[in-house]
Amino acid sequence: MTKFYEARKRDGAARLGRLLIGNATVETPLLLNVEAFHSGTAPVLPAKAVARAKNTSKLLIYDAWELPAEWKTARGVVVLPKTHPLASDVRNLKADLYVVGYASRLLTSSRRLVDEIIRLKESIPPDAALYVPAVATPANVAFLIYIGVDVVDDAVAVIKGYEDVYLTDYGELRLFELKNFPCCCEICTSLNPAELRKLNKKERAELLTKHNSLSLKAEVEKVRERIRSEMLREYVESRVRTSPFLTAALRILDEKEEYLERRTPVARRSPLLANTMESLRRVEVKRFAARVVERYTPPRRKVLLLLPCSARKPYSQSQSHRKFISAIFEFGGHIHEVIITSPLGVVPRELEAAYPAAFYDVPVTGYWDAEERFWVGSCVEAYLRKNLIERGLYEHVVVHLSGGALEIFKGVAEKLGLEAFYTCGDGEEETAKRALERLRNCISELCAEKKPDKDAKVNMIKAMADYQFGNGVGNLLLG
Ligand SMILES: [Zn+2]
Repeated sequence: MTKFYEARKRDGAARLGRLLIGNATVETPLLLNVEAFHSGTAPVLPAKAVARAKNTSKLLIYDAWELPAEWKTARGVVVLPKTHPLASDVRNLKADLYVVGYASRLLTSSRRLVDEIIRLKESIPPDAALYVPAVATPANVAFLIYIGVDVVDDAVAVIKGYEDVYLTDYGELRLFELKNFPCCCEICTSLNPAELRKLNKKERAELLTKHNSLSLKAEVEKVRERIRSEMLREYVESRVRTSPFLTAALRILDEKEEYLERRTPVARRSPLLANTMESLRRVEVKRFAARVVERYTPPRRKVLLLLPCSARKPYSQSQSHRKFISAIFEFGGHIHEVIITSPLGVVPRELEAAYPAAFYDVPVTGYWDAEERFWVGSCVEAYLRKNLIERGLYEHVVVHLSGGALEIFKGVAEKLGLEAFYTCGDGEEETAKRALERLRNCISELCAEKKPDKDAKVNMIKAMADYQFGNGVGNLLLG
């Protein structure tokens, strides 16, 4: 445990934190400037580069074998790759900042990048910071911070400047191919590419380096802001699109469910925007689906009614759901309402106000792609297996769905050998007058006597308690 690093806010594995150095604090994610390294003005310095005075106001980075255990100031240690002859077990190294040695090797494959960083994060104390030197670019730094890197530097920005490479948040451009600068920094507004090309190599490199570093700095600031507004995941999904390497890295990271599950907050104040294929694999989506099956116990009702989702959340506030509710209101006590939706799969009415059910948005085109169908179908199947087949909670299934959601249900019903009542005609929308009449008639025939749902509020509170805190908590609270 360290008293020098404190994580103050998280979004995924990304953290806003404070690193205490001397009497000053620096905020993380922290971008170090390599020029400041050389001039000795950076807050973090290699121990070899400074006199070893005990009262230094810098955070000194040591090689593992020379880490002075008795020192009371913040200190960093270089973690060597496992294959290095001098590598030692990182669990035995006690430091406030862990520095990845030979970090550029992480960029040789997406899987290596993800595996190595996760292995390190799992091995170091949660309240220590991780520094990955000489890999950050404006294009990859959002992902690096999302996976849990706290400190980066502008070494690549500088090196690329000397190679006539102009960095942007969507990748590298060659200076000699540029007509305009797609940037508004002080360098890019002071001259154009043709003018820059006329300068000698050294002057050109200095200006390009400045732009590259400013571009990286701006991106780190954006990421900080995205963490603050709890929207980093959406930002990372858009950022990785510019590179197959980063897109693969995000997909590989999403396979590391345990790593993300432990680090992703159970609720955010911002909406969950499911705009990409990767959104289906978000830990919040998988967590919701898992909790509906593992933690939630539906009420025993005669009819399971499957309904479509709505753009407005919670669903019951939408015009379409008001129509459904008014069509079945008199028989509510016989019915359990469950909403079929992408990407969450199955949302019982009692959980419609939980995060992320009440806080997500998806692009609606009427078309459900194969991946979406498979995922939502698997959620519907798991729910029906557990509650209809194993628990026997319902006598009938009424399906008030059309389009893709209906096709998904039919696929599952065929697989499970289920019979159901379908209340939407071919090509008919769920809110069509005839469909609503059919729904009302079907329900009144199945339920016979009227019975309003008096337990709706109590069931909702119980379900929310179980969902948030674990199976059976609702009953403990409400009896
Ligand atoms: Zn610029």
